[in-house]
Amino acid sequence: MSAIKFDFEHFDSQEDVRRHIQDCEGRHSQQVAYSTFHDALTQICYGCRRIRSNIIIYKHGDNN
Ligand SMILES: [Zn+2]
Repeated sequence: MSAIKFDFEHFDSQEDVRRHIQDCEGRHSQQVAYSTFHDALTQICYGCRRIRSNIIIYKHGDNN
């Protein structure tokens, strides 16, 4: 088993994430997930080794 490290990139809007998805389309292996609960789009790009999302993640311990 080998580990792949991904960098996480946060974007303010789905449109920003979508732009990166289109950039990688046809060049990189990628997967895209959409969360209706968070209304967030997430791209996992194995070529860029990046996860790009407009999801808002709160640090452990935050109340809201
Ligand atoms: Zn890519």
